[in-house]
Amino acid sequence: MEMAVAASDAGLEYMAVTDHTRTLAMTGGADEKKLLRQMSEIDKVNRELRRRGLSFRVLKGAEVNILPDGRLDIDDKTLAKLECVGAAVHTHLKLSRKEQTERIIRAMENPHVDIIFHLTDRLIQKREPIQLDFDLIVKTAKRTKTILEVDAHPGRLDLKDEHIRKAKEAGIKFSIDSDAHAASHFAFLEFGIAQARRGWLEKKDVINTLPAEDMLQILK
Ligand SMILES: [Zn+2]
Repeated sequence: MEMAVAASDAGLEYMAVTDHTRTLAMTGGADEKKLLRQMSEIDKVNRELRRRGLSFRVLKGAEVNILPDGRLDIDDKTLAKLECVGAAVHTHLKLSRKEQTERIIRAMENPHVDIIFHLTDRLIQKREPIQLDFDLIVKTAKRTKTILEVDAHPGRLDLKDEHIRKAKEAGIKFSIDSDAHAASHFAFLEFGIAQARRGWLEKKDVINTLPAEDMLQILK
């Protein structure tokens, strides 16, 4: 509720809750049961928002972990119930370029995966990006209608301007995500917008400039 009110105050019309999933034990990752519980919590929050007269909506999502072989750590039945599924690599960052690329391609081929979060996994001044065949990733994103995320967190911004421009030219759509872990983090969106502009994105390239209903139409 606190995050929803902060996002609404920041001028947003909706937000997606995308908690990490179970194989990320250090973050207390959600399993299928916890996600189902969270979905009913979100229904409650949305009802409360309406009761308060706020036209703000919380979307049901998750940030599922891509296993080393490209499978996901949440079953398809549960993923199908979510409104917005992001998938991301968090472990096995040293795989070869070929293995890493195949891993992410397999995740994009999952019919429930809408967005790949922080694709290259770079952390500024802390961690090098994973090795990827970016052209093949872009081609697969196009074929599977997968969105690429511009992660606005100032420590990430790991889709670089040149990645963004290349993918845009191939017809890929993007989401700009605050990666907010606290109410004050919605301000990070500005960094993501600046990064998107450096990659020549326009409003039409970014799905979360759209009203919630229209945005959800674009997702798988
Ligand atoms: Zn992540």
